Amino acid sequence: MANSFIDKARITVKAGNGGNGVISFHREKYVAAGGPDGGDGGRGGSVILQVDDNLSTLMDFRYKRKYAAPSGMDGQGARKSGRDGQDLVIKVPRGTLVRDAESGEIMQDMSGGEPFVLCRGGRGGWGNAHFATPTRQVPRFAKGGLPGESHDVVLELKLLADVGLVGFPNVGKSTLLSVVTRAQPKIANYHFTTLSPNLGVVYAGEGRSFVLADIPGIIEGASEGAGLGHDFLRHIDRCRLLIHVVDVSGSEGRDPVEDLDTINAELSRYNADLEKRPQIIAANKSDILDDPEKLERLRRRAAELGCPLFPISAAAHQGVDQLMNKVSEMLSILPPIAVYEPEYVPKPPVIDYSQPLDVQRLDDGTWVVDGPWLQRLMSSVNLNDYESRMYFDKTLRESGLYQRLEEMGIQDGDTVSLYDFEFEYQR
Ligand code: GDP
Ligand code: MG
Repeated sequence: MANSFIDKARITVKAGNGGNGVISFHREKYVAAGGPDGGDGGRGGSVILQVDDNLSTLMDFRYKRKYAAPSGMDGQGARKSGRDGQDLVIKVPRGTLVRDAESGEIMQDMSGGEPFVLCRGGRGGWGNAHFATPTRQVPRFAKGGLPGESHDVVLELKLLADVGLVGFPNVGKSTLLSVVTRAQPKIANYHFTTLSPNLGVVYAGEGRSFVLADIPGIIEGASEGAGLGHDFLRHIDRCRLLIHVVDVSGSEGRDPVEDLDTINAELSRYNADLEKRPQIIAANKSDILDDPEKLERLRRRAAELGCPLFPISAAAHQGVDQLMNKVSEMLSILPPIAVYEPEYVPKPPVIDYSQPLDVQRLDDGTWVVDGPWLQRLMSSVNLNDYESRMYFDKTLRESGLYQRLEEMGIQDGDTVSLYDFEFEYQR
């Protein structure tokens, strides 16, 4: 079934919200005025992507498209913090690209073993115990938790293979894979027997193994979306080298040189980079070659293109070892498998300054500021990072908050309290 191989999926991911901090005061028999003991809210669970080498498709994402990590619990009295929400770990096959669904930009290439934090959980709000200072002994306020991040992403599998087999349907690509690796692809004498990519490992001598990928046959027009080929071309994007399999016998009444040129044109139309990818030509089915001139013409064309050519018979296992030795020799001097750099830059939250902030002045000279956009801003900035701090400060200034505090009579040295961040006001 053509659609049983899922290598692209769009999902919606949401990290858990932070739990709320609470206001509570210590109470004990015979103790008159207990101190503040409201605990902090727990952190929301993050959503983390992790490579799992037991997976080879994105099938799991076909029916489940929404993923949410649990929120943190609210704090409690007696300085008890709320429990953190557990992180949600989503497993993906190696080679999965994570793209921002809106822009298509790459956020992460899941090729290495490092987990990727896709959405950070919201920080928990502080309980009133957290706000107690020598000058502020009875804080009657606590903070709400911050929202967890959410994101729509497209997962796209791009296999990690050193070498890709390309060519028309039925030229013997799967047969070749099956004789040089332990992979057991389906082989049959009809077009599009291979409907999903197959990978196998070739052992070409000690320490010289490489991964070979068999993808469904490319057809004319594939790069424009005709037939099956187009979707699968992405699996050879990363390949360091291509083996272009041609039926040199022309057993289906086609011309080997034309076949070679047609497929190459498709490849470069799909991705101009593929045109420059080193290629070895495997002139297959040479066991049933009736006209030696066909091979000679293909040789001349290969020479023009600067590609080595090996006459083989995959079915009869002839010339295959020499071909694989050449592949291994070329790989030893080619750059490693491509890993994509992230290109996505998180956008600052949309801030609607017309939504007024809620400002509250406490007796001890603390100004507690609250509001929906401030909450979003706070959950998106990392206040330990200098640049983020500058951006944060600039945003507050532009929002008119400082001006408003001035108008309300703020003094130098007063405390401004924003969720889990406090600073001393200086004009
Ligand atoms: P693919 O579509 O390119 O993967 O082609 P397959 O590997 O499925 O092979 C298509 C048909 O060609 C099958 O019937 C194979 O047995 C046959 N075939 C593959 N290699 C050779 C070969 O070297 N010689 C001959 N005579 N037939 C072959
Ligand atoms: Mg096949």
